[in-house]
Amino acid sequence: MPNATETLQADAQGFARAAAIWRAGGLVAFPTETVYGLGADAANDRAVAAIFEAKERPRFNPLIVHVDSAERARDFVDWSDAAEIVASAFWPGPLTLVLPLRQGARVSPLVTADLPTLAVRVPAHPVARALLAEFGGPVAAPSANPSGRISPTEATHVLAGLDGRIAAVVDGGACPVGVESTILGLAGDPELLRPGGVPVEVLEAALGTPVAQRGEADALTAPGQMRSHYAPGARVRLNATERQAGEAMLGFGAVAGDLSLSETGDLVEAAANLFHHLHALDATGAAGIAVAPIPERGLGRAINDRLRRAAAPRD
Ligand code: AMP
Ligand code: MG
Repeated sequence: MPNATETLQADAQGFARAAAIWRAGGLVAFPTETVYGLGADAANDRAVAAIFEAKERPRFNPLIVHVDSAERARDFVDWSDAAEIVASAFWPGPLTLVLPLRQGARVSPLVTADLPTLAVRVPAHPVARALLAEFGGPVAAPSANPSGRISPTEATHVLAGLDGRIAAVVDGGACPVGVESTILGLAGDPELLRPGGVPVEVLEAALGTPVAQRGEADALTAPGQMRSHYAPGARVRLNATERQAGEAMLGFGAVAGDLSLSETGDLVEAAANLFHHLHALDATGAAGIAVAPIPERGLGRAINDRLRRAAAPRD
């Protein structure tokens, strides 16, 4: 955990420093045309876990990945004709596309919340573009505010909420759009997942088809959907201190297992390992997975939220 948060200028030196922090797994807030984002290397599990810790998010909801070009976006998602149409019309800009995650794409499962889709965007803000070009890889970034607070549109807002919790903020002045990006789902028929900087009518005109407006809440938080996305094949039993017959064991802290989320009881490490270890234990073919107790504090709340979904009765 960094002590003081550095304020970096939006110049070559500041960009180089920010990219170095990202490469080392640290968190850097940066301006986009919508709001300030809290960025981390999207391929680094621990760095992405640290985003959730810094924001004190009680859930692992999926994060938007920022890249410097549509060409780079295509490394991470399965592209389509519809994606090509809207990307050429609105990127760089305040439009996020949700597309099928490309097989073998190097993105932490914490970024997608283990979903088979990825949200990706090419921001237009010159500072964001310079930073992404300097870093050269995908940057996962939710808004740079503590969970439940208003999104920041100036560097001072970022510091008001996150000073001492993140390594640095790049000061690029006020964000011109000030509302979040529009999120367009293109994994199936076009669907508006969140209204934002690009109006839905404009998207419909570009695509030449209607865009369904089911709403982000329905799309992501419908319990059935969440269950089907997060449930391993094996039955999951929580707060276990010992395994029962036929179970694989996922340990934490003093409770050992076939795999441990964190032998030292480090919740950031545990969050970083969560999806990897669940998949690995599920792949052993065990009938059940017994999971050690995880404390209900800090990142433990998000870990327990996800584990409870995995353990919920199947439809
Ligand atoms: P924020 O990072 O706070 O701007 O929020 C990003 C939003 O993007 C989340 O609340 C999700 O609803 C949405 N999102 C990100 N990834 C996906 C995805 N794979 N599928 C559907 N929605 C997504
Ligand atoms: Mg937000």
